Amino acid sequence: MSFSSLGLRPELVAAVTEKGYTEPTPIQLAAIPAVLSGRDVLAGAQTGTGKTAGFVLPMLQKLVAREGRTPRALILTPTRELAAQVAESAQHYGKNTDLRTQVVFGGISERPQIDKLRNGCDILVATPGRLMDLVEQGATRLDAVQMFVLDEADRMLDMGFIHAIKRIRTLLPKQRQNLMFSATYSEDIRDLASKLLTNPLSIDVAPPNKTADKVEQTAYRVPKDHKRHLLAHLINTGNWHQVLIFTRTKHGANRLSEQLERYGIRSSAIHGNKSQAARVRALEDFKANRIVALVATEVAARGLDIKELPFVVNYELPNVPEDYVHRIGRTARAGSTGQAISLVSPDETTYMRDIVRLLGKDIPALPTPEFEIRDFGPTPSDERREAAGNSWGGPQRQAQQRSAPARGGQGRPAARSFKPGGARGR
Ligand code: AMP
Repeated sequence: MSFSSLGLRPELVAAVTEKGYTEPTPIQLAAIPAVLSGRDVLAGAQTGTGKTAGFVLPMLQKLVAREGRTPRALILTPTRELAAQVAESAQHYGKNTDLRTQVVFGGISERPQIDKLRNGCDILVATPGRLMDLVEQGATRLDAVQMFVLDEADRMLDMGFIHAIKRIRTLLPKQRQNLMFSATYSEDIRDLASKLLTNPLSIDVAPPNKTADKVEQTAYRVPKDHKRHLLAHLINTGNWHQVLIFTRTKHGANRLSEQLERYGIRSSAIHGNKSQAARVRALEDFKANRIVALVATEVAARGLDIKELPFVVNYELPNVPEDYVHRIGRTARAGSTGQAISLVSPDETTYMRDIVRLLGKDIPALPTPEFEIRDFGPTPSDERREAAGNSWGGPQRQAQQRSAPARGGQGRPAARSFKPGGARGR
């Protein structure tokens, strides 16, 4: 199957060919003809499946050519990173058309975005909160929108955008085409879909809540305090050149990034407290292999489009099992394979159980290798925290320099699996 046999015009086919795509991915095979036919679509697809081209290409084809100044297609995404990436894709796939795409999101000043909207566009990509602010100020109107896309709808609900989505919906014309993408299906997603979509075609490329088979998923049992040392060992001995690491907190992301640096591993942290510029720079450094490790919080990493990411590490497990599916969806992207490695401390065993139950498949725990524990003392961000006041008081920690080899996993025979529905792993 080729892109042209799906009914796409030559200028669109030329743009994807130039990007090096030789054939459509499964989601594209299913979504492109459906969207072209004008149907509403509910698609279960993670980032990495090629879903963006799945809706952007037929959208470009349907909009045909530049017309007026008010957007005729609206794409809502949960995060600024995803918004920027979707807009970049639309610009790229539409390079041989005269259609204009604009993107607006929070976290940067409104003024330039208002000016961009005044200039007009055909496709508007936006995060819900900023879009509402701009619409309320009269910077744009939504009454010409013919195509409405909710990308990563499950994320949007998790992030509390339901009210903004409902408000935005009331500003759209009643007659329009609606597309909704979600990596997971919860009751809330089904509910939203039933309100938003009319007689939708359901497309599932990966069954919901199942992770891509191509991702090799493993785990290590390791005490919390040893995780950073084991991780440094895995990166250094495995000669990993690009690894995305998830932590639960922003402070944890900063701290781990600093700790890895001390092990000689080039690293950056990316999270909501960083400026947009710093986040973009970190992502670019990561894509260009100038840094080895990108340490991210869940929210910051949503929708990151990094080609063929070989390694994803769950440094701390998510307490919502669906987040695991999202995280590991960052690896083994269109056509390549990847590894997802979870570092599981004893207090996280319950989370792991919930994850394997959701996946319905076993995640083997590998024997923990011998690794070295080096104590570099507190990191700069620890010190900043302590200077800012530590409610428990207690003696200041002293920077220490010692080095001792350790047996990971406290010497226990750690090669047991985390089995779905299995007994307590201890
Ligand atoms: P997405 O799931 O939309 O975030 O896309 C994931 C990645 O796959 C992006 O880097 C796309 O550039 C790439 N991609 C999309 N469609 C294809 C295709 N047909 N062949 C190869 N790569 C693709």
